Amino acid sequence: MSTSHAVVVGGGIAGLSAARVLARSGVRVTVLEGSPRIGGKLRVSEIAGIPVDEGAEAMLARRPEGLDLVDELGRGDDLVHPGTTSSAIYSRGALRRFPAGQVMGVPADLRALAASRVLSPAGLARVPLDLVLPETPHGDDVSVASFIGARLGREVVDRLVEPLLGGVYAGRADLLSFEATLPGVAAAARTNRSLIGAVRGVRDAAPTNQGPVFATLPGGLGALPQLVADDVVAAGGTVRTGATVRELRRRDGGWRLTIGPTRDPEYLDADAVVIAVPAAPASRLLAAEVPAAARQLAGIEYASMAIVTLAYRTSAFPRLPKGSGYLVPAVESDPRRGGKGVKAVTFSSIKWPHLRDGDPDVIAVRCSIGRFGEERTLQRSDAELAAIARAELAATCGVTEAPAESRVSRWGGGLPQYNVGHADRVAAIRAAVAAEPGLAVAGAAYDGLGVPACIASARAAATRILDDLCSREGAEQ
Ligand SMILES: Cc1cc2nc3c(=O)[nH]c(=O)nc-3n(C[C@H](O)[C@H](O)[C@H](O)COP(=O)(O)OP(=O)(O)OC[C@H]3O[C@@H](n4cnc5c(N)ncnc54)[C@H](O)[C@@H]3O)c2cc1C
Repeated sequence: MSTSHAVVVGGGIAGLSAARVLARSGVRVTVLEGSPRIGGKLRVSEIAGIPVDEGAEAMLARRPEGLDLVDELGRGDDLVHPGTTSSAIYSRGALRRFPAGQVMGVPADLRALAASRVLSPAGLARVPLDLVLPETPHGDDVSVASFIGARLGREVVDRLVEPLLGGVYAGRADLLSFEATLPGVAAAARTNRSLIGAVRGVRDAAPTNQGPVFATLPGGLGALPQLVADDVVAAGGTVRTGATVRELRRRDGGWRLTIGPTRDPEYLDADAVVIAVPAAPASRLLAAEVPAAARQLAGIEYASMAIVTLAYRTSAFPRLPKGSGYLVPAVESDPRRGGKGVKAVTFSSIKWPHLRDGDPDVIAVRCSIGRFGEERTLQRSDAELAAIARAELAATCGVTEAPAESRVSRWGGGLPQYNVGHADRVAAIRAAVAAEPGLAVAGAAYDGLGVPACIASARAAATRILDDLCSREGAEQ
């Protein structure tokens, strides 16, 4: 295998993870990252002297891939878990505890739902109709809002499901695919007339005592890419930054990549290529050789968002928050509906107690702004976005003091939208790519945008490349 050269385009967590598998299997690997730094949506920097993530901050610990990677890097013992996962939702003019007994906001426990007072009396009264309504067809795919709204009423969609999905996709329940964004619930709903019954089944089937839900590294999840890159280099691979790939063409049974500016191009030949970039650049790169995949990739839309991080002295809080944060439904926060724009608040120093070890007097708070279709909100200056975040905390936590420091991290086109038809689109992309020997795709655009899912897609891509290279080298001998 050592004679083969594989190029991985994109130095986010997917590209680096794929490169690591390839390098450790003896393949000569080059990672080409267009920006000046590796990591993509994983980035950490200090604010008021403590490391707080600017992008992804929590890795799901209920899937193995992220934890396994950290373990394999010899850092498993370093992993830290949230001090609390209790969260709230701003609904009907007040912060209310998120109701227990739900799956991605779809309620299984109607008493807990009533006690939370998240829904209006009319909205709450509508929910149990699900138990008597005839079956709701969902064909190949439907939107989250149309299926869940038909079963449980629009308020469940607006005030529970969409805010939770918004935390993952920054998307709209009217557009997001039921099958792609809630696969477990959608599968259960195929065999259960009642959605409440289906979700009860999903909850009953989940193992108990699963341990912590989330994990991160003490220096932030943004520290993970460098650990992976170091391992790639230790295994003989190369990681280049500032190397934007502009073109991918077939050449002598392998591939030729064009890197850098048109006036001064550089060419790199490879036996195999993993494309681990977001859908738009992946579409451009595949346009010449795999147009069927490129067309489908061009149809995947992205939401932009910004994270405003504010670092306060503890004394700024009349009462320190107890929970990890809260969500604000679009019906309460959408600027087009008169809201202020913040869609989620994370009390980072409460959620991650290790942050207070650095400086017990600093409370870092992350405010997320921007959903799919709210791009105008993000056209404001950093100072204006910080002011929106400060006003939010003043309103809900009574924090009127100025923060010691603030930071705005913008994520233009940060989150792929798994809209209705996503699974078919991905199947078409995969089929077109599978027909090309020595080519694979990986990353957030396909089968899950969480960090563990990206690592899983990277491993699958690397396995495919290894199989291709093996059969090719076997044929040449
Ligand atoms: C604000 C925010 C918060 C999030 N929070 C969480 C969270 O808490 N938990 C979680 O699990 N997930 C979270 N996510 C999602 C998760 O972080 C991402 O889906 C995941 O990191 C994407 O990894 P990736 O490698 O697929 O893509 P990316 O991170 O986008 O990496 C792709 C890389 O390719 C590079 N590139 C693009 N075009 C080219 C080219 N032509 N040539 C060379 N390089 C190129 C880019 O510069 C980039 O570095 C969050 C995402 C965002 C935006």
